[in-house]
Amino acid sequence: MPETLFKIDLTKPMSEQEIPGHNRWHPDIPAVVSVKPGDIFRIECKDWTDGQIKNNDDPSDIKDVDLNIVHVLSGPIRVEGAEPGDILVVDLLDIGALPGDEWGFTGIFDRNNGGGFLTDHFPEAAKACWDIQGIYTSSRHIPGVRFAGITHPGLIGCAPSMELLQKWNKREKALVERGGPPWKPQIPPLAALPNPEQAVLGKLTGAEFDKVAAEAARTVPPREHGGNCDIKNLSKGSRIYFPVYVDGANLSMGDIHFSQGDGEISFCGAIEMSGYIDLHVDIIKGGVEKYGMVNPIFKPGPVEPHYSEYLIFEGISVDEFTGEQYYLDAHVSYRRACLNAIEYLKKFGFTGEQAYLLLSCAPVEGRISGIVDVPNACCTLALPTAIFDKSILPT
Ligand code: ZN
Repeated sequence: MPETLFKIDLTKPMSEQEIPGHNRWHPDIPAVVSVKPGDIFRIECKDWTDGQIKNNDDPSDIKDVDLNIVHVLSGPIRVEGAEPGDILVVDLLDIGALPGDEWGFTGIFDRNNGGGFLTDHFPEAAKACWDIQGIYTSSRHIPGVRFAGITHPGLIGCAPSMELLQKWNKREKALVERGGPPWKPQIPPLAALPNPEQAVLGKLTGAEFDKVAAEAARTVPPREHGGNCDIKNLSKGSRIYFPVYVDGANLSMGDIHFSQGDGEISFCGAIEMSGYIDLHVDIIKGGVEKYGMVNPIFKPGPVEPHYSEYLIFEGISVDEFTGEQYYLDAHVSYRRACLNAIEYLKKFGFTGEQAYLLLSCAPVEGRISGIVDVPNACCTLALPTAIFDKSILPT
C-alpha cells in the first residue's frame, strides 16, 4: 500500500482535519504536501458535501444541504519541479471506498437549493443510499437493479494562476448579468460566483484568508484546468494530462463517485462517497505549448464494467412544455432523451424519482448522435439492460 499523504478523519469536517483541504480555487492556497515526479502515494477524500448526507431514509439532509461547503477537496499537492507551461501527468492507479464507510448516496436537489437537469419535472428533494459490496452496488431505495461501479474522482485539477482565476470570475459574472438562454429560469442560478461563506482554504488565516476567500472561484463548474468535469470514464488506470499554471502545479481532488451516468443529470447525481485514490505523477516539460493544450486530455484505464446490450432512447431539440422548436440545442435534446427513458421506466414499476436517480448514477452512456441536421440536434441515452433483474425490453 502506498504511503497516505493526505489522511481523512470522517468524524470531523474538512476545516478541522489535521491537514485541512480546501473548497475553493485560488493560486494562494498553500500546498499541504509535496511529492517528486515518479512518486506513488495515496490521498484520502471526504464526500463532496463534507459529510452532510447520512445513510438513512430521510431526504431532508439533501433538501437542506449547505452548498457553500462544496466541494471539499484534498490537497493542494505540490509536485517538485512542475512549472507553468508544463504538463502534469497523473495516473489514477486505484480508487476505492474507505474501510468501514462502504456506502454512497445519490440525490435530487430541491429546485430552490441546487436543482438539477430535470428540476422543472422533479422540483423536490429525494435520496437513494447505496450499499457498496466490492465492485457491486445496490440500493434499498431502488429495488430491482444492481451494477458494477465505474469509480472515479468527479473533480481533479491543478490550481489556476491569478490571471486564469480573474478570467473565470470575469466571464462567469458577465453570464449572470447577461442572463441565460430562454428556457433557463433564474432559479437555480446561472453560475456560482465567488462566495466567502463557508470557505475552507487549507492553513490560511487572518487577512490573507479574507482576501483569498473573497476572490477564490467556486468548485462547481469544469474549467480549463479540469476541475469538476464529472467524467465517469476517468476511472481506475486512467492517465490524465493536466496543464500546469503555478509553480509546483498544486494538484487537488475529491468528489469521488462509485458510479455515474453520462451527464450526472440530477446534479448530486453520482453515487457520492468518501474514498482513497492512489496516484503516480510525472512531468512533461513545456508540454502545454508542445501539444497545443487548452483543457486536460486523458487516456481511460483498462478496468471498466463491461455491458454489451443497451436500450437506447432518442431525444430532439423540441421543448416538452411549449412544443417550441430549438436550433440544434443538445441540452434540450438530451433532456428529452432522459425524460423519454424515465417515462419508459415508469411502466416497469419505478417511480419517476427512482428512474431519475438511476439514470444519474448507473453506467448510462449519453451521446450527441447528430448535431448538423437542422433544426434538431439528436441526443441519445443508452441504458445497459443487464443492470435490471428483469427484462425491460418491449415485447
Ligand atoms: Zn459528485
